Amino acid sequence: MSGYFYSHRMQLVDSFGRVARKLRLSVTDRCNFKCDFCMPLKPTWIPSSEILTFDEISRVVKILASMGVSKIRLTGGEPLVRREIEKCVKILKKVPGVETISMTTNGYFLDEKAAALKESGLDSVTISLHSLKPERYEQIVGRKDAFSKVLSGIKRAQAVGLSPVKLNCVVIRGCNDDEILDFVELGRETGLVVRFIEYMPFDGKNMWNPDRLVTGAEIISKIEEKYRIERLPREHGSTSLTYRIKDGSGTLINIITTMSQPFCRDCDRIRLSADGKIVPCLFSRDDYDVKKLLRNNASDEEIADFIRSAFMKKFAGVETLLKNGEVEPLIRPMHTIGG
Ligand code: SAM
Ligand code: SF4
Repeated sequence: MSGYFYSHRMQLVDSFGRVARKLRLSVTDRCNFKCDFCMPLKPTWIPSSEILTFDEISRVVKILASMGVSKIRLTGGEPLVRREIEKCVKILKKVPGVETISMTTNGYFLDEKAAALKESGLDSVTISLHSLKPERYEQIVGRKDAFSKVLSGIKRAQAVGLSPVKLNCVVIRGCNDDEILDFVELGRETGLVVRFIEYMPFDGKNMWNPDRLVTGAEIISKIEEKYRIERLPREHGSTSLTYRIKDGSGTLINIITTMSQPFCRDCDRIRLSADGKIVPCLFSRDDYDVKKLLRNNASDEEIADFIRSAFMKKFAGVETLLKNGEVEPLIRPMHTIGG
């Protein structure tokens, strides 16, 4: 089908010289949770007919992979509510050039799905867990039966050999910021990598305000009250700072400092929304509808050119918005693009 083969000349480059290597692929905007900091009270769902089919997703991924994108993270909404998501994993894992497939999930269906996902080629998983207190957790995610199911999902993910298994914890002042040390302790006991995420202004309920943001620096000083830690070199393109607890346990902690210390200069990500829009950056106001081309018999070459020109327009990043005081809450709710 494609006359495109990856070559250095063809890689996806933006106007700042940043090269796309990773794809955040939202497979649905739907979710079985209503997290306070993500889901609007009355979400408007994308009509099913507008959601990309697995064939369409795989075509875009083939084209992206031909341009050097090799790491795919499935997200949502909640990726595990997409029917037969393991089939999608299987299809994408066979695409030439795709090296790893990972997933960010709320973990609710992971106990039942982990084995099939691993079998289909999923490499690793990140599970969102924002509190270790069952009642508080269920209050945050708006679902009463969730805590024990998510814990079982985490254990199953480890048992079937998904690796690494990481936890995402969005830290919000006055909500769960008293649990930072408990999460570190959990990491030490289980080998799970805990990722503390700064609260971003994408919440559907418009609750975000700067006072609720707990910065990476605050999180680090909290951890230092109890542990000696060392910062590890940052991987090119990584969104996070990595620290090791110096107690011989090898425990790693990631801190995602998108708001206080963003790493836009070597960003290597591109995003595809569930309804087929290329979103060059989480903070972009613009998106580029590749689905129209997919559904109008465009050739691979035309689609590749379209993506290349969309990516070329990727703006400098949240770094500049923050500098100019331009970050407005709710550019788009997080469930529509996937974190
Ligand atoms: N449903 C899946 C989940 O919750 O893991 C995947 C999609 S979710 C939008 C991706 C990540 O974004 C999750 O770890 C979630 O906690 C995080 N997230 C959602 N809203 C956020 C916000 N306002 N600020 C920071 N992170 C947020
Ligand atoms: Fe759903 Fe994930 Fe958003 Fe929570 S953060 S409402 S689990 S999409």
